[in-house]
Amino acid sequence: MENNHKDSHNQKPNPENDRGKHIGTAVIISLALILLFTWVYNTISDSQYTQTTYTDFLQAMESGNLSEVVIGPDRILYMTKEEAAKEPAQQKASYTGLPVGIDGDALLRELHAMGVDGDSKILEDNSLIISILYYAMMFAILFFFMRSMTRRMGGEGMMGGFGKSKAKVYMEKQTGVTFKDVAGQDEAKESLQEIIDFLHNPQKYTAIGAKLPKGALLVGSPGTGKTLLAKAVAGEADVPFFSISGSDFVEMFVGMGASRVRDLFQQAQKVAPCIIFIDEIDAVGRSRDNRYGSNSEQEQTLNQLLNEIDGFEPSKGIVCLAATNRPEILDKALLRPGRFDRRIIVDRPNLQGRLDTLKVHTRKIKLSEDVDLRKIAQATAGAVGADLANLVNEAALRAVRKGRKAVNQEDLLVSFETVIAGTEKKNTVLTDMEKRLVSYHEVGHALVAALEKHSQPVSKITIVPHTSGALGYTMQMPEEEKFLSTADELRTELKTLLGGRAAEQVVFGVQTTGASNDIQRATGLARAMVTQYGMSEKLGLMSTASTSNQYLDGQAYMDCSQATAHEVDQEVKAILDKAYTEAKRILTENRSLLDEVSEYLLVKETITGDELMAYVNADKKQLPENTEEVTEEAIEE
Ligand code: ADP
Ligand code: ZN
Repeated sequence: MENNHKDSHNQKPNPENDRGKHIGTAVIISLALILLFTWVYNTISDSQYTQTTYTDFLQAMESGNLSEVVIGPDRILYMTKEEAAKEPAQQKASYTGLPVGIDGDALLRELHAMGVDGDSKILEDNSLIISILYYAMMFAILFFFMRSMTRRMGGEGMMGGFGKSKAKVYMEKQTGVTFKDVAGQDEAKESLQEIIDFLHNPQKYTAIGAKLPKGALLVGSPGTGKTLLAKAVAGEADVPFFSISGSDFVEMFVGMGASRVRDLFQQAQKVAPCIIFIDEIDAVGRSRDNRYGSNSEQEQTLNQLLNEIDGFEPSKGIVCLAATNRPEILDKALLRPGRFDRRIIVDRPNLQGRLDTLKVHTRKIKLSEDVDLRKIAQATAGAVGADLANLVNEAALRAVRKGRKAVNQEDLLVSFETVIAGTEKKNTVLTDMEKRLVSYHEVGHALVAALEKHSQPVSKITIVPHTSGALGYTMQMPEEEKFLSTADELRTELKTLLGGRAAEQVVFGVQTTGASNDIQRATGLARAMVTQYGMSEKLGLMSTASTSNQYLDGQAYMDCSQATAHEVDQEVKAILDKAYTEAKRILTENRSLLDEVSEYLLVKETITGDELMAYVNADKKQLPENTEEVTEEAIEE
């Protein structure tokens, strides 16, 4: 469910206006490099000569010790006979300044008269021109090199890198995504429709004097299509789409975040109307009251963001969309009127939504006749759009692996298991006894579900291990999408969950670790019944826990006195005990059925819900009347 939308973004080079700035930077850097190079070169070449005084030179001249002399405009380069006698590699010339007032030409003539090999300064002048040419050429080469580099890196790289940092801002001129690509989410689309209209025609709104919101907050679990929706808004309105992730703002150096924000809005203003999309805004926008561990860098970034949002002129047609799955931790300042004051909920898709999502993603995929997308949609309750997209892709890959030309229903079902339950693991070797235990455990779940009212039909039982760690599982498929559960249904679910352990106990008199996940889920459910759903007789309608994080994992924390918490624990235990006793009773009363189905599963490894029901129906005559007491119904909200 990770957001992986980033691969589809293009990285765009800078807008034209920045080019001048870059040429300037290239010039400066080229010059600096040349100066540095010259300095290093001179230092090295100077060290090839011994520096002497003019007196030293005169002495050498008078003693006839000179071998060669070059007289330049301001210095004399000479080699003594001692040095000249050495190996060429070890020769070391000397130099000295030419004192003002001494005529170099006269000196040279004198030297020639003495028979010393000497050169005039004309050569030195020549080399001056050459070196000017040389520097100019070097500059030109460096300059073009640097400029092409800055271009290629889109203004990033060596220059522009400090405080400019556009690396993480992605701009798409056209997203190519429209509302047709977003399945379901009708309410969200409706709320966004107005924004699209506004981007099409800002004048219509400003003429009346209406102020449109500058921003809207898309709230929903990861993978529900928030990024997709934002892109679709840009696509529908046919405006450019800027996107950046909140975590990009705060990941680097202090002060970078704020300058990135400034930069982002500057760029956006140049191409307005446009959409700015900030993913994971909670990374920058978390509350500054320090409860969630904010820091000064993040605060600075947030302040800049608030400034920019307040600063831009809405009539220009910039709309800021932000996504988060933790709206409750956002700083209140962000949610104030005129900022992200609209909240658009992007929910997990319902049955129809999932079916539509599957349809969208299978549009370009060849499906064989037997494919029934509705069945897949039914099986994937709770899955988000990203899961379904992944599922379809896995199915297509599987079809290719199997050498088929089209995806069939089996591909979809198997990849459903891959995506939801991990891949089938063929090489986990279980001992025969372990296999028996797993088989009875799974049939325990399935039978309790099959024999109880208020339960969802079993669609599949398997004892083929999955990489997720499950040694087997029982899949239940709801007949229709459900939004409410009654207390009876929840109690049946508890019995079903504990049916696995009950079977182990009833048949073998053992308790295995295989039931740990069941127990965890059952406990969670029982606790929710007591603390949140008001379904316990003892505590009644008192809510004793609050959910802190509705859109992420919905974890609840206790919100009551210690004495009550103790009572809650007791009540939870009582509910679990009761469900467990019931499950054991059901299985004991249907022991022969349990044995039959378990042995069958042991051989076949995977059986369908229909096969299970065939056994159950054949056994029906022995089934005792279900004598469950009438219990209170869940209160509708
Ligand atoms: P979020 O930003 O909410 O985490 P994304 O927008 O990145 O989720 O969704 C990831 C992918 O999941 C999308 O690229 C798309 O393929 C798929 N997806 C999610 N929701 C939908 C939807 N409603 N309709 C079609 N595809 C969807
Ligand atoms: Zn189990």
